Parts: sequence; structure tokens; C-alpha cells
Amino acid sequence: MADCRKSFEDKVVLVTGASRGIGRAVALAFAKEGAVVIINYQSSDEAAAQTLEQVKALGGKGETVKADVALAGQVEQMIRDVVGKYGRLDVLVNNAGITRDGLLVRMKDEEWDRVISTNLTGSFNCLRAAAKPMMKQRSGRIINISSVVGLTGNTGQANYAAAKAGLLGLTKSAARELASRGITVNAVAPGYITTDMTEQISKDAREQLAARIPAGRLGNPDDVAQLVLFLAGPGATYITGQVVAVDGGMTM
Ligand code: NAP
Repeated sequence: MADCRKSFEDKVVLVTGASRGIGRAVALAFAKEGAVVIINYQSSDEAAAQTLEQVKALGGKGETVKADVALAGQVEQMIRDVVGKYGRLDVLVNNAGITRDGLLVRMKDEEWDRVISTNLTGSFNCLRAAAKPMMKQRSGRIINISSVVGLTGNTGQANYAAAKAGLLGLTKSAARELASRGITVNAVAPGYITTDMTEQISKDAREQLAARIPAGRLGNPDDVAQLVLFLAGPGATYITGQVVAVDGGMTM
């Protein structure tokens, strides 16, 4: 008889920045596979509630948790609560991220600090807090959402590129430290994906971008979610410390 169990049945999955965009798509992809999905976000109460509704409509379970990933105390509390309630944490997806673009010579301290503290320190805070229960379980999957910009750099994004490149060093160091405990740590580097973050790009610029992408189009959030699902799943047990681009061939 065929095995009808979903591949993440009752696994506990925390997705940071899951109120919108890529994080929401990741949450929904796990929900379809039966996971308990913890939807973290910073300020969009309504959008986070909508993600939870969609998770439930797919037959999934979960809850929303408002916490700023840049603040270690809030992150520690969030992960303590999750482990206290569900008894474990199987997957962490470090997705929360922001941009504050500007040319290097004009970049304000606040623009630099805010992007580093959300995109890099925020991921470190979550990774450190999640590693403890995962080490006790002797199993876990951590997926960090970096960016192709962390590989190539980008004009007007020195802060963002530095944070996303830093995340790759964090991924590889954590992968080395945690491999013997049955925990894998990998990074995903999306290209241009249609979300609120890329909404400001004009139609013309979007067409020019698409022309530079071998696949001929920008990505959609589910393109990223499917890769995250794979890295968290049974087919990726022996993959750790890797960076996988999901960019339609843009950076090959
Ligand atoms: P988005 O649509 O702007 O959504 C950002 C998400 O992050 C929201 O859920 C937001 O919550 C949350 N967030 C922001 N600051 C936070 C904080 N301090 N604490 C907790 N949550 C926070 O962004 P996206 O395009 O989906 O991007 C998701 C990730 O993919 C980011 O790390 C981004 O750098 C990366 N990425 C995106 C692209 C792209 O082309 N879109 C390409 C490469 C990499 P609120 O709704 O509460 O603000």
C-alpha cells in the first residue's frame, strides 16, 4: 500500500519573516507537507494572520509569533516558547531581511547598522538559540536565506551585500560545528524574486533584468520555497555548508 504520510507531518518549523513574500511561500510549502509552522514577523500583524489562515486552509497547523530577530532577548524567548510548547524544533529558516539601499559614500550609519543587525545578527541570534535544542535532539535543519548579491556585490547595496556575504561565512562555520550532532546548515541565494522587496523596480528595469537572466524571467517566492523544502527534507541529509543559488541561471 502507498505511504500517504506527508513528508513533514508534525515536524516543527520556524520561519522568520513569514508574514509576506518568500517567508510566506516557505511557510505554505511546509504547511502542505503537514508541518507545524511557526510564523515569525516584526510588525505586519494582519499579513501574519493571513499567512496563518492560509496555513490552516492547507490543512497545516501553527501560530504567529511577533519578535524582532535583531533583538537577542526576543529571539531567545520565541525559541524557548516554541520548544516549551511543542517539545522540539526541527527546522529553522532564517528568512527575515530588509534593504536600506544607497550609494556607499552617502550611506548613513543607521542604514548600515539596521541592515547588518536584521539580516546578519538576526540570523545569528536565531541560529544560536535554535542550535541548543537541536543539539539535544541530535537532529535539525537550518536554512539561511542569503542572496546572489552576497556572492557578487551590488551597486547601492554595500550594507545588504556585506550582511548576505557574512551569512555565508556564518553558514559554513555553523555547518562545521554542528555536523557531528546531526544538524545541517545550508544557505540559499535567491536572484531577483517578485515580492514587496523588489516592488520598487520599474517595469523597464524589470524587463532589462529579465533579459539578463537565462531563464528569461524574475523568480517567484515558490521557486525559493521548493529549494528550502528540499534542503530541510530527507533527500538532503548529507548536504551541509553549501550555498545554492535559485536565480534562473543569472550568476552561473
Ligand atoms: P519582504 O517581502 O520585504 O518580507 C520581509 C519579511 O521579513 C517580512 O515578513 C517582515 O516582517 C520580516 N522582517 C523584517 N525585519 C524583521 C525583523 N527585524 N524581525 C522579524 N521579521 C522581520 O522580503 P522578501 O523579498 O520576501 O525577502 C525575504 C528574504 O529573502 C530576505 O532575507 C531577503 O533579503 C531575501 N532575498 C530576497 C530577494 C528578492 O528578490 N525578493 C532576493 C534575494 C534574497 P513584517 O511584515 O512584520 O515587516
